[in-house]
Amino acid sequence: MTDCLFCKIVKKEIPSDIIFETDTLMAFKDINPQAPHHILIIPKNHITTVNDLDERDSELIGELVLAAKDLAKELEIAEPGYRLLFNCNADGGQDVFHIHLHLLGGRKMTWPPG
Ligand code: 5GP
Ligand code: ZN
Repeated sequence: MTDCLFCKIVKKEIPSDIIFETDTLMAFKDINPQAPHHILIIPKNHITTVNDLDERDSELIGELVLAAKDLAKELEIAEPGYRLLFNCNADGGQDVFHIHLHLLGGRKMTWPPG
């Protein structure tokens, strides 16, 4: 997708603070962090929303969650705890239409979310 912000980040046409990348995933710091640790983990291939996932994406989504879990451990937030979150469409608060898993930690999260 030529016009997608996160596809541009994947192609490094837009700079980002990259935490890691693999053949299939990239993780980078959120530009407007909502917690001391706020990282976005994305598939390199464009997928617009969670609604667009199907069974063929099972392994990819598993990779995203496992990558988040590993990062949480590296950041030493695994034991105190953290939040993983996908926003979907308008009511879910999705602003960037390339799926991304938010990893938030380093402070106590509130529930319910706003
Ligand atoms: P959403 O609301 O779609 O779930 O989350 C989009 C996230 O992307 C927001 O937390 C926002 O701060 C972040 N974001 C938006 N534009 C950029 C950018 O250019 N670079 C980075 N690193 N994060 C961005
Ligand atoms: Zn994209």
